[in-house]
Amino acid sequence: MLKKGPTNVIPLPRVGDAHLAPVYSMFPLEAVSGEGVYLHTNAGRRVLDLYGGHAVAVLGYGHPRWLEALTKQAKSLAFQSNAVAVDVRRRAASRLARFADLGLDKVFFVNSGAEANENALKLAFKATNAKKVVAVEGGFHGRTAAAGAVTWGAKEKWFAFPQAPFEVQFLKAGDIAAIEDVIRDDTAAVIVEPVQGVAGALDLPKDFLQALRHRCSEMGTVLIFDEVQCGVGRTGYPFAANMYGVTPDIITTAKALGAGFPVSAVMIAEHVARQLKLDDLGTTFGGGPMACAIVEAVIDIIESEKLMANVRNMSAEIRKTCKIGPVTDMQGAGLLLGLRTKIPAKEVHAELLKRDILTGTSADPHVVRILAPYVIESEHVAQLREALRDIG
Ligand code: PLP
Repeated sequence: MLKKGPTNVIPLPRVGDAHLAPVYSMFPLEAVSGEGVYLHTNAGRRVLDLYGGHAVAVLGYGHPRWLEALTKQAKSLAFQSNAVAVDVRRRAASRLARFADLGLDKVFFVNSGAEANENALKLAFKATNAKKVVAVEGGFHGRTAAAGAVTWGAKEKWFAFPQAPFEVQFLKAGDIAAIEDVIRDDTAAVIVEPVQGVAGALDLPKDFLQALRHRCSEMGTVLIFDEVQCGVGRTGYPFAANMYGVTPDIITTAKALGAGFPVSAVMIAEHVARQLKLDDLGTTFGGGPMACAIVEAVIDIIESEKLMANVRNMSAEIRKTCKIGPVTDMQGAGLLLGLRTKIPAKEVHAELLKRDILTGTSADPHVVRILAPYVIESEHVAQLREALRDIG
């Protein structure tokens, strides 16, 4: 017989009661609008959003300059594909390349993180003629065939394709000693999230990334940093590559890049881009004028409002003051933080939500993930701290 549960549990939304494919376990809230760093729910609650729709809403909701860029571009030219030149696409590409300042100066715009990774891997095969890929345990790279093949644990959980499109070998995160053995001259690419997101906001050791860089250069292997989650200011630096001082051959990025408008990018070093010829890559929607106007605006806002400094400051404040209640330790970088919890993260997540704070969980059952907007302030950190203290 079922035990009677606590009476204050918020009922789950009725998943699949309309026409949506029932593939998501959902947080127990329904958002009707957003304002700044808060969500308003259909139950009249005002919820502090420290999760930002999987790391996307970096400017919070309704940022006036983001809205203006979108509206202005929609009015002047909502869409043209890559077959037609539009100046905003050129401007967005050079803005992004200059923002990173890593010499990854050729940009291919696509639409999602997985699509960016598919294209990056394809480029690596073209550039090397090698056949294998090395990925890192714990890494998440997306749900499509190639991106799923390099995602740790996908095969056991959801991959579903009858076979991977190429051979993949996984390297233990931080295992420098294994690098020489695993990365050989038949390795086309190494793909790695420098700060792993889904794994629980895990910042990989700098010497591990340096050793990957060194070995890839030695073997002619393309080093891909998947910065879909940790890029575009998330770590308090333009990219984690800047933070670590390690430059890959390709960076893929998405999420923060559009701050709510779907856009992703493959940023490519000249020596890899040189292998490209007409028709090698393609997309209908990628590089559309609205996406490009938003990329330009998001980078402008991040720079002019000094949001990377705010990310570093707020991160330091959380680290200093929120090791409290159920939180025993912290990991990650910038506002991609993992709060290590002594009780299951799921319980802490639920308790925080009862106190009107939305956070994320992760693949680690003892890590609550914070993916806060870059615009949070000390009062929001205080709200988190008091809620954690209250949970005890
Ligand atoms: N790479 C990383 C590091 C991610 O965190 C994600 C999504 O969470 C992806 C790739 C896939 O991105 P998308 O869901 O936009 O395809």
